[in-house]
Amino acid sequence: MSETHPIEKVTIIGSGPAGWTAAIYAARANLNPLVFPGRATGKDLLPGGQLMLTTEVENYPGFPSGITGPDMMQDFAKQALRFGTRVVTDDGIQTNEQVNKDAPLYTPFQNVKSVDLSKRPFTIVGDNGVEVKSHAVIIATGAKANWLGQENELRLAQSGGGVSACAVCDGALPMFRDAELAVIGGGDSAVEEASYLTKFASKVYMIVRRDVLRASKIMADRAMNNPKIEVLWNTKVADVLGDKVITGVTLQDAKTDEQRELPLTGLFMALGHTPITEFLNGQLDLDDAGYIKLKDPYRSTSNIEGVFVAGDVADHVYRQAITAAGMGCKAAIDAERWLAEQGID
Ligand code: NAP
Repeated sequence: MSETHPIEKVTIIGSGPAGWTAAIYAARANLNPLVFPGRATGKDLLPGGQLMLTTEVENYPGFPSGITGPDMMQDFAKQALRFGTRVVTDDGIQTNEQVNKDAPLYTPFQNVKSVDLSKRPFTIVGDNGVEVKSHAVIIATGAKANWLGQENELRLAQSGGGVSACAVCDGALPMFRDAELAVIGGGDSAVEEASYLTKFASKVYMIVRRDVLRASKIMADRAMNNPKIEVLWNTKVADVLGDKVITGVTLQDAKTDEQRELPLTGLFMALGHTPITEFLNGQLDLDDAGYIKLKDPYRSTSNIEGVFVAGDVADHVYRQAITAAGMGCKAAIDAERWLAEQGID
């Protein structure tokens, strides 16, 4: 089934803090934006983005008592819808009146299957056959944290049971105070997260699958010199233990396969991130790590005029809700100005 609609002014792909912030700004600029929020695929990719896998958000300014990640993202969506943002669902393009009022992110949305950025207006095709033509496009698909992919790991991450892929987001929660925690991974992020966690934890294990850290020398030295960090070399995690909250992990020696249990109160993944760019099919310039390259680092412009980029899909450095939201704001303002220059308003 293929359905064609009038040409959109701006279409936003993605529904994390960057996508909804872009939508709020575009809607308030009377651009009547359309959002492809995406569909849940597997357990690690959800409409709403990485915050849907976070429990308490305590570092987003304006929430002195904190807010859960999913509640925050539902509020972002409600705010964008309130100003006239429309969304692409399995039933086609829908408005505020047609989505789940209490929790708009639980509406069955469509994923973007493909885009054609070779000529304007651009074409965006949803996986259910909806075809959208749009003068401007904002890409805010984010980057998903890499997980081990084990059932218990993902279950405890989704239920706030002490398993997380972001120490900066979750590490300061009371449940991790004076506790024994572990970070899996040996890259710069793993060192950074382990060092950060030592502010709260009594001890932090770094579980590293090889006998060397991937992290830069200066970062590696930081881990080695921190008395609260113990590196477990040549070690894999065979299972994550615990029913409602994590109680420990089953470690496996990477050389001998010998297993032992390690009691833990918290487990943090630092296995890198994968930016979500597959649907672009190589049409935008990417950097060496696969993130979309901004044409100008202070703006949201890409190598294709009329295509703007916001959030973690173009940022492997900060990866915070507040920085993604800031980039979404910039993308909407850039798109608005570019549309005005084209005489489309
Ligand atoms: P990364 O460099 O890709 O490191 C990922 C780590 O996870 C590696 O040690 C890898 O092990 C390990 N790993 C991956 N899959 C695993 C699995 N299934 N089981 C066990 N371990 C697994 O990712 P990153 O640390 O997030 O860094 C991403 C980029 O950001 C890098 O360019 C980094 O330099 C940069 N960064 C810089 C800073 C800084 O300078 N302050 C801070 C953070 C990040 P192997 O080594 O065995 O492959």
